[in-house]
Amino acid sequence: MPELPEVETSRRGIEPYLLNSTITAINIRQHKLRWPVPANLPALAKGKTILEVRRRAKYIYLKLNNGSSIIIHLGMSGSLRICTNKLPADKHDHLDICVSSKQTGNNILRLRDPRKFGCVLWTDKDINQHKLIKPLGPEPLEDDFNAEYLHNKAHKRQCSIKALIMNSHIVAGVGNIYANEALFKAGINPKRKAGNISLKRLQKLVDAIKLTLNESIRQGGTTLRDFTSENGQPGYFAQKLLVYGKAGENCSVCGQPIIQFSQQQRSTYYCPHCQR
Ligand SMILES: [Zn+2]
Repeated sequence: MPELPEVETSRRGIEPYLLNSTITAINIRQHKLRWPVPANLPALAKGKTILEVRRRAKYIYLKLNNGSSIIIHLGMSGSLRICTNKLPADKHDHLDICVSSKQTGNNILRLRDPRKFGCVLWTDKDINQHKLIKPLGPEPLEDDFNAEYLHNKAHKRQCSIKALIMNSHIVAGVGNIYANEALFKAGINPKRKAGNISLKRLQKLVDAIKLTLNESIRQGGTTLRDFTSENGQPGYFAQKLLVYGKAGENCSVCGQPIIQFSQQQRSTYYCPHCQR
């Protein structure tokens, strides 16, 4: 599943081809994504110029010159890439946004989504007031996500610390892989009650979340890499992970085996010796 670093890497990959370009057409081959792609999207967007290519949590949005935005989410299996009309669309390539600019010529932003859990939506309102964006907590890499903030939110909470940092209302876009890795780096047991952790330890966790996400963005996300690849497949990039997917392997710090169990229907990996 594309996580925040993959989405940010995608955003950086597509941005140079879209910025200040004009939308010449939108071709929708499949309307039935997680929510229906608005049938009037091509008419609404045609002729508009893309002023910004931004990310909020795991949403990418293209801000247009009339104040409207196109909102894109990659769902479980979506990917974006830049191609030209020489590349025939595959059966999973559900939508093309065709653009033209003086700098980069004619290009297509193509959404591929085999499982169709992604979405492409339109809003003419302030993006931060959109129903999908408004309930989200702060961005994990911004300064308003800090130890004091997390300590306040954790206060008297009975849920586990892992559930807390994966709750998008608390902090937006810390996915399962990154929650596991950050808790390991911070030495915190994923099962520990969120309300029982000191400010000092939460500071370590906040630092570990930022470090883990930044490292991953620097490496191009764990799964995606090449946005202009013409072979139809997103490039796959195996990030160096410390605990995620390492059940039974030896902990890189103490040498004891990494344990796996299920928490909120997601796999948790941790070292019982290093994480308290
Ligand atoms: Zn260990």
